[in-house]
Amino acid sequence: MVTCPRCGAQNRIGKAPKGTFPVCGACKASLPWVVEADEESFAQEVAGAALVLVDFWAPWCGPCRLLSPVLEELAREHAGKLKVVKVNADENPRLAGQYGVMSLPTLVLFQNGHPAATWVGASPRQVLEERLRPYLERR
Ligand SMILES: [Zn+2]
Repeated sequence: MVTCPRCGAQNRIGKAPKGTFPVCGACKASLPWVVEADEESFAQEVAGAALVLVDFWAPWCGPCRLLSPVLEELAREHAGKLKVVKVNADENPRLAGQYGVMSLPTLVLFQNGHPAATWVGASPRQVLEERLRPYLERR
């Protein structure tokens, strides 16, 4: 369940159609879009939006736990523009290997389905906003 940032309505998010952000059933505002992906669903999830921030994390990783709420804030702030996809690197080692993940957390930004930037480590929200800005503006 996702709470609408505009009207506070509770929304159940299923599979949104390809290229479409989920919207609030009550007020039609874009909803923050944060999903979990594994090796099977990854390609489809990344293809689901023009700008996708993939978070490679693991349950034992302390900085990952710090980063997680920051990513949720970013998804809320940029609802309708930025999708966040979370990948458990322990459970999906092939994906982590494919994108050169050497330490956690690692963020890989996908633009139109292709990796555009890789950021290693848990950065403060302001730093991530700075890094994301050119990509958000380019659309
Ligand atoms: Zn709403």
